[in-house]
Amino acid sequence: MNILVTNDDGIESPGIWALAEALTRVGSVLVVAPDKQQSGVGTSVSFTRDSVSITEVPSKVPGVQAYAIGGTPSDCVILGLKRLTKVHIDLIVSGINLGPNVGNDIPYSGTVMATLAGYFRRIPSVAISLAFKDRNEEMRFDGAACVVESLARCIEKGAMLTEAILNVNAPNIAPEMIKGILVTRAAGFGYVRLGDSSGSSVISYETKIGKPDRATLEEGTDIWAVNQGYISITPLRFDVTHHDLLPAISRCVESMDCGFLGK
Ligand code: MN
Repeated sequence: MNILVTNDDGIESPGIWALAEALTRVGSVLVVAPDKQQSGVGTSVSFTRDSVSITEVPSKVPGVQAYAIGGTPSDCVILGLKRLTKVHIDLIVSGINLGPNVGNDIPYSGTVMATLAGYFRRIPSVAISLAFKDRNEEMRFDGAACVVESLARCIEKGAMLTEAILNVNAPNIAPEMIKGILVTRAAGFGYVRLGDSSGSSVISYETKIGKPDRATLEEGTDIWAVNQGYISITPLRFDVTHHDLLPAISRCVESMDCGFLGK
């Protein structure tokens, strides 16, 4: 199995190397990641730049080839698939992100949206994020790495539908403390907030990790699961058309009275 590994925290992030190491137990791993922090860039691709740099870098995992890209996570996946290998990529995994990617914040996530380029090419894609409450906490990648390794084996065996991006979020706790793995839906709200910079001409964003802005968390959502100590897996799809609204919009269009319509 040929596996392309990327992230949005950059090639130096410890999360991507924990992920690459776990996936070498399943297949042949190619690491292609941004040369610097790209969190929050969503689906961004470098359309308007003349060129994107590609630099082969020393790998931190034996047997893995690694490239740093002067662009976005989506650039990394596109270059990884089209330019940096001649083999067919069977699986794309993005992460392990330093912070959760849940609820309404998912579309902003460079980690999750990097895999969109794979999803549209019908390549199985997994995004994996570690939900910690404080950046000073010790990072426990082992539980998340074990789950993503198992998911890769399921996908390799054809035992899992892959017409989805699998968005995995793990609590940052020791594996023996993890309560289990739950398949969830994305919560209808997020963590990203405008920071407190009142009186300043500068704005800043902050993520209120572990403090969602709702008093009650709906059971079965990704945020609920992670806050309860479970690993959450949410299958995502990107059919952007709102099919239910097509008739109502069509009726509105029929009633339009623009001169060029000849009415
Ligand atoms: Mn990130």
